[in-house]
Amino acid sequence: TKTIRLILGDQLNASHSWFKERDDSVLYLVCEMKQETAYVKHHVQKVTAFFLAMEKFALALQKAGHNVTHLTLDDTANDKTFLSLITRLCKEHKAIRFEYQHPDEFRLNEQFNELQIELQKCGIQSVCYDSEHFLLPFEEISTNFTKGKHLRLETFYRKMRKRFDVLMESDKPVGGKWNYDADNRKKLKKSDIAEIPAPLVFDHSTSEVAERLARHEVQTIGEMEDSLGWPVSRSDALKLLDFFIQHQLPDFGRFQDAMTCQTPHSWSLYHSRLSFALNAKMLQPMQVIQAAVSAYLADHASIQAVEGFIRQILGWREYIRGIYWCNMPEYAEKNHFEATRDVPEFFWNGETGMKCMSETIKQSLKTAYAHHIQRLMVTGNFSLLTGLNPDQVDAWYLGIYIDAIEWVEMPNTRGMSLFADGGIIATKPYCASGSYISRMSDYCSHCKYKVKLKTGDDACPLNSLYWDFMVRHRDELTRNPRIGMIFGNWDRLEDNEQQAILSRADWIRNNLDQL
Ligand code: FAD
Repeated sequence: TKTIRLILGDQLNASHSWFKERDDSVLYLVCEMKQETAYVKHHVQKVTAFFLAMEKFALALQKAGHNVTHLTLDDTANDKTFLSLITRLCKEHKAIRFEYQHPDEFRLNEQFNELQIELQKCGIQSVCYDSEHFLLPFEEISTNFTKGKHLRLETFYRKMRKRFDVLMESDKPVGGKWNYDADNRKKLKKSDIAEIPAPLVFDHSTSEVAERLARHEVQTIGEMEDSLGWPVSRSDALKLLDFFIQHQLPDFGRFQDAMTCQTPHSWSLYHSRLSFALNAKMLQPMQVIQAAVSAYLADHASIQAVEGFIRQILGWREYIRGIYWCNMPEYAEKNHFEATRDVPEFFWNGETGMKCMSETIKQSLKTAYAHHIQRLMVTGNFSLLTGLNPDQVDAWYLGIYIDAIEWVEMPNTRGMSLFADGGIIATKPYCASGSYISRMSDYCSHCKYKVKLKTGDDACPLNSLYWDFMVRHRDELTRNPRIGMIFGNWDRLEDNEQQAILSRADWIRNNLDQL
């Protein structure tokens, strides 16, 4: 072996140019590492899905004729970091060159920069390659984003639509509009709920990985059965994509923001659940976008559905990555509202009387998944309104979701959800009272709290928390044209009513564990 090439768990991109040719002097490494299981407490399904997918990827490469070493936790138990692992393996294989793909996380990028220096001292040359996954080239992040500055998603998204010629008719958007949200985002009626398709879930055996995790005392959260339902290979991922296009895409836009607790399929609804496959790079973003465009061209799905879906991938996903790389490492420290409260115990078990919270959290523990509105407007909104510490909230999101990798988790959590970045992503905090939850879901009619009430022991906690949040940050929010007018409603309330609302909120914020 002359060259060692490392493939990280989220770099399972079979179409990378590395694999175009076989080269006997190259050894590919796919390695389970304890450090990757331990930088945060992950959901057991997440660790398992990554490990299974890595193993399948290593096997597929081997079948294609490449030299591959797949190391499990058993083999790397003494390697605390990539530094020790790679220097050891370079020695063992007498490698003179180390190659890797640009990691998506700042944390790992720092480690690899250090590793490069160490390897150089031993006369080993190292080279970093592009991961050949994202649509916006890494080098162009700095020309599209400015550190600390807000950039509108819409501006970025339109540029990407034009650049990649997606849903365009020469320089005009197909259908005449860039955005069809006004037609989307409907609530699910009873008759709609019966129509929700059962999601496609896989059936991967988990026992070997489970034994390994136990043997190495890997601490995890969440539940897992004997089989894992997430895609762990490119062929699984393609099946999931196909299933989404056939059965879910046509209603994706319409029910994108809806929530229900009235069907066993409440957790999946019309969402693609492709985020894990995409983030592990088993699927390429353009592949997913093209599948959606084809469905539109074949009259299988409307422009509303297809544009809404494509905006998530061509727009949001690329945008979020740009925000992350342009603003790290400072972004990880941001705490605009100086929020310091501890995350309550029920985030770890779902035991709370608030139906929206208990549904979302229990579902997350059971499936390692929640869809966007559950993340943003249920747990996210609650964390924002109660002033939970962004470091702890970040750790919760980073641990619990199957698709959570810091580059995408952190800007969504700290920025979009908690407004801890002070407006780099969002133009206003996404805060809402119980009426939003009631409008978009059927949670409230199954809740012990009454969504119509603001005060009293059985009033929906979100109602007083909402006003309390608004009043605490009035000086700042009143200047925001998208939010300022709301204070008129507050000012019309009698003094004693205002007092009652604020004292209810105060009690709640100090007694989160009793909700
Ligand atoms: P769909 O609803 O089917 O959307 C399709 C695809 O669009 C997704 O697979 C995803 O790749 C992309 N996408 C949609 N919204 C976003 C977004 N805001 N940012 C980036 N990509 C997006 N997404 C992650 O991939 N990892 C995370 O750790 C993560 N953490 C989040 C934390 C919070 C607080 C919030 C509000 C959102 C977070 N998101 C995260 C974004 C989004 O919620 C998930 O991508 C989505 O729910 C994944 O489910 P899906 O594949 O069914 O998505």
